[in-house]
Amino acid sequence: MTYIICEPCIGTKDTACVDACPVDCIHPKKGEAAGYRPDVQVAYDEVDQLYIHPEECIDCGACQPVCPVSAIFPQDEVPAQWEFYIEKNKLFYQLSWPEFKEKYGIK
Ligand code: SF4
Ligand code: SF4
Repeated sequence: MTYIICEPCIGTKDTACVDACPVDCIHPKKGEAAGYRPDVQVAYDEVDQLYIHPEECIDCGACQPVCPVSAIFPQDEVPAQWEFYIEKNKLFYQLSWPEFKEKYGIK
């Protein structure tokens, strides 16, 4: 399984979860250039929210309690109105940034 970042991260993006994650699977990280890893094509300043890599997450739960806006859920506990964030977190790492922006209407 994986954890998923949902809507409340948008506009907050404080990166507390990044610091808590033991396996460095939450991106983009502040201060890194676009492309600092091949599947993160965009810098922190350009994204609407942060994303958890679903295949790298070890399901430890460390990120969930540190999020100030309760944006993080285990995949099987994502509230119904935010279920599309399951795919959104995954596709962030799979689509090109222009494709991803278009799909999710990110300015
Ligand atoms: S559940 Fe653990 S491994 Fe997964 S994103 Fe959160 S802190 Fe990282
Ligand atoms: S801690 Fe919460 S609000 Fe902050 S970046 Fe992570 S998911 Fe977003």
